[in-house]
Amino acid sequence: MKALAIDLGGTHATCGLVEDRKLLASETFDASSASLASILPTIAEVFRNLVQRESLALQDFAGIAAGFAGIVDSRTGRILGTNGKYEDGPEIDLDTWSRKTLGIPMRIENDARMALLGESFAGAANGFTDVVMMTLGTGIGGVAMIQGKLLRGKHAQAGCLGGHIPVLFTGRICTCGAIGCAEAEASGWSLPLIVKDWPGIRQSALAKYSNVGFKELFEESARGDSIAVAIRDRCLNVWAVDAVGLTHAYDPEVIVMGGGVMKSGEVIIPYVEQYVQKHAWTPWGKVQVRPASLGNNAALFGAVPLLSEPPH
Ligand SMILES: [Zn+2]
Repeated sequence: MKALAIDLGGTHATCGLVEDRKLLASETFDASSASLASILPTIAEVFRNLVQRESLALQDFAGIAAGFAGIVDSRTGRILGTNGKYEDGPEIDLDTWSRKTLGIPMRIENDARMALLGESFAGAANGFTDVVMMTLGTGIGGVAMIQGKLLRGKHAQAGCLGGHIPVLFTGRICTCGAIGCAEAEASGWSLPLIVKDWPGIRQSALAKYSNVGFKELFEESARGDSIAVAIRDRCLNVWAVDAVGLTHAYDPEVIVMGGGVMKSGEVIIPYVEQYVQKHAWTPWGKVQVRPASLGNNAALFGAVPLLSEPPH
């Protein structure tokens, strides 16, 4: 099956043409506009160009599968909840837009669920039926597949808010409204706030950066900066505690970890795996923790399995 795939990340969007487990072509473009409606013409143009460049026709594709960073009901094709990006999303009927503009149907799913579908179909979770995927990025994606099926639930929000599992009841207010979510305690958006408030931060090498990301944090930790090491270790613990919570909730055989921070996977994976194997209650055996293998393209590889699902 051939599919058009799009990962709507918020600042950038990536469009791709996929054929089963192969990515034929892709293009990433700036999608930082506040409204989803305003970038739809660009999406259509990028898909048309990609298809033409590959000497294919739109009708060769089964449809468009979109990953969206928010709460999405793939059964009705609607965006239900946004998190500061594309606030007009819930008003847009993407399937109707796609049929009118490109002549093919469109399905939509939460971006982290799409990435899990991709890793399950063509990546690190291939061959497993019970999988949790954590994506560490600006936020934290945490999604679950149980007995070979994505967990969705009555309101489409089951098993896709793994980054919003509270890990600290005295913690920070999260963008979701809860307190001390894993995402509020160790993610791309919360890290600069954590660094800013850390006691003695002025004595740390981190003080020289205007905006500390995980790249800087892991680099300065590796150089031995003691405050960087302390903040890094705190982040590792937040992710590990979240992974234990997800293990207790969803009974996975494997946890796949992805996202930009996984450039430091050689530090993160063994730490989280050891912590989960020590602290999670799994009398059947030990949960494996593995790095994602499809990188930023994982969600694109979820297109074929999403479009292959029977209509609801
Ligand atoms: Zn939250």
